[in-house]
Amino acid sequence: MARLELDGVVKHYGRTEVIRGVDLTVEDGAFCVFVGPSGCGKSTLLRMIAGLEDITDGEALIDGERINERGPADRGLAMVFQTYALYPHKTVYGNMAFALRHAGVAKAVIDRQVRDAAAILGLDGLLERYPRQLSGGQRQRVAIGRAIVRNPRIFLFDEPLSNLDAALRVQMRVEILRLHQRLGTTMIYVTHDQVEAMTLADKIVVLNGGRIEQVGAPMQLYQHPANLFVARFIGSPTMNVLPVTPVGLEGGVARVRTAAGTAVEVPVAEAVTAENTQFGVRPEQLRVLDADVDGDGVFRGVAQVVERLGGETLLHVALGDDAIIVVKAAGGSAHRVGDPVVVAPEDGAGHLFDGTGRCVDRLMPAARA
Ligand code: ADP
Repeated sequence: MARLELDGVVKHYGRTEVIRGVDLTVEDGAFCVFVGPSGCGKSTLLRMIAGLEDITDGEALIDGERINERGPADRGLAMVFQTYALYPHKTVYGNMAFALRHAGVAKAVIDRQVRDAAAILGLDGLLERYPRQLSGGQRQRVAIGRAIVRNPRIFLFDEPLSNLDAALRVQMRVEILRLHQRLGTTMIYVTHDQVEAMTLADKIVVLNGGRIEQVGAPMQLYQHPANLFVARFIGSPTMNVLPVTPVGLEGGVARVRTAAGTAVEVPVAEAVTAENTQFGVRPEQLRVLDADVDGDGVFRGVAQVVERLGGETLLHVALGDDAIIVVKAAGGSAHRVGDPVVVAPEDGAGHLFDGTGRCVDRLMPAARA
């Protein structure tokens, strides 16, 4: 097990700076997920930790020791790739034993480690098969098994579930969680899928354009996003964001008004400027009300799209000002396209973002720590 630190890490490809100064500590035994849109630099950052890419500037340390100059094999890490990268002409056993054989480990020790890893991953009955005789999920298990037998100080996962179908992805996600609980080894996991990030991580690192937008526990990012980027990236369906005009500030509570005239009040940590202020509220934080309810925080509109997901219904509601908000309503919702819909945020729900996209609503004390 090990602790990883990145200190001012920068990566250039020629003149292009793709990692722009990353400072991060991943504690011993943590499950840390790098998440962000395609091209934000997640894989590059992981590959720099693995030693597959040079670090242009800054330092990477494991347990306080600089690893920049160490080759990938000398860092004590094991990486699992999206493409599995199995040897097609070796059996499952051969694939899992390969690194240990290469390192000259005694046969009996190899045998024990391969069989232990196979048992953990439910591969016992498949050891003599070749990769082509395995399903996608089984292949990915072999790739993980190959990492486990090396007993690494840190596991690195690069979008390991992206090639699997949706149901298998969910199953493998649970298996990887169990693996972490069982081994307790530090894991660093790259994904573009915020659901994977939320469910796996105890620490999420949101990356955008080669920079960290925010680092925190999943619920901390969900409840207290630092800015609009994180607010929109975390949570599904995405947070509704509406332009608003500040109309008052009293006792630390800002009063703002949408273009359609709905007034909302949000406790703020500082005064909001008039320029490009936006109000954000998640679809699951809006409540459908009776048609005759009126007053502060009430949004009125017309259902434009009704998505029935079974357990819940997503109502896309066109407001008077052409903005659309998505509301997560009950599965049995009777709304149809064209129906009037009246909704309001739950008590205390909603965020305010200033013109730069920074979240300015009042944070809970826990989130400031
Ligand atoms: P992500 O994993 O978040 O999708 P990557 O780390 O793969 O992003 O890429 C980050 C950025 O670096 C992208 O803009 C990509 O085009 C660029 N990039 C990645 N690898 C190379 C390379 N070998 N040469 C030049 N640019 C690269």
